[in-house]
Amino acid sequence: MDETQDPETYCQGGPVAAAATPGPVDGPFAECVLCRRPTEYPESTRGSTLCPVCEWQEAQRTACSG
Ligand SMILES: [Zn+2]
Repeated sequence: MDETQDPETYCQGGPVAAAATPGPVDGPFAECVLCRRPTEYPESTRGSTLCPVCEWQEAQRTACSG
């Protein structure tokens, strides 16, 4: 019986997907839609771009929701 397991701790055990970088990119970089910092993605990237930090946080949030 182990009911002391905290869901937050549990989620941190999940694999953190490393940002798949297609290759070296020489800016300009798209800025993060959340914190406006430059991301690892080129400005031509479609959709919302997130910096590694926000991306990680979003992944955690998504993994823990529900
Ligand atoms: Zn960000």
